[in-house]
Amino acid sequence: MLSAAELLEVWERGLPLMPVQRACALLASGCTDTPEEVLGALNIGRRDAELLKLRESLFGLEMMGVVNCPRCCESLELTFLTTEMHSVQPPEEQLETLSLSAEGYEIEFRLPTSQDAIQAAGEKDPLAASYAILRRCLVSIKRGGQAVPPEDLPFEVADAVVHRMEEIDALADVRLSIACPNCAHQWQSTFDIVSFLWGEIDAWARRMLSDVHVLASAYGWNERDIVTLSPVRRQFYLQAVGG
Ligand SMILES: [Zn+2]
Repeated sequence: MLSAAELLEVWERGLPLMPVQRACALLASGCTDTPEEVLGALNIGRRDAELLKLRESLFGLEMMGVVNCPRCCESLELTFLTTEMHSVQPPEEQLETLSLSAEGYEIEFRLPTSQDAIQAAGEKDPLAASYAILRRCLVSIKRGGQAVPPEDLPFEVADAVVHRMEEIDALADVRLSIACPNCAHQWQSTFDIVSFLWGEIDAWARRMLSDVHVLASAYGWNERDIVTLSPVRRQFYLQAVGG
């Protein structure tokens, strides 16, 4: 369980980072006994399962979000539980080599990790980035017993590998089924725990710093003392100052 001071620290460290790096920094702060490179080598589904657990310990099971209906533009408030996401099991063994046969090609591959996404982040075009991640995950390609270089892999076969990865690592791509109460339109929206949790931590941190400002101005207390107050006592003093 992270303290308020530790969470503020990881928020400040994460501000200039890319989302995938923030995910690793958050996990590293929550699992102090696991090195960051080990967390970076988790497949995306396992990583996201760990982030869901971190989210539960920080803010509880219930998550709230706002989406706009793509048909009538109505703004909808959604409430869902972290446990609904846990119903999708992440693959256990992240280093296991998987295989696929398609169009006469025999392909061995592994699942993408945060490290792969960080390495591919230099690519400006999203398609090129996906391809760079895929190439990192290809262990071997053969056709008729002969090795084939990754650049000679036909598009349909590469696509089949990506599809297989998505099937195995279903938690890496969670979709929520949504129905609009206004126009009855139904659709699926992707849920990204990394950006969702980061958004919550960002809002929490800014609120905390603003509370520090109010209480430090009123009582002359230092930041550390205000941050380590229990939420109940901090709220009491904030109300006392406001009233
Ligand atoms: Zn609608």
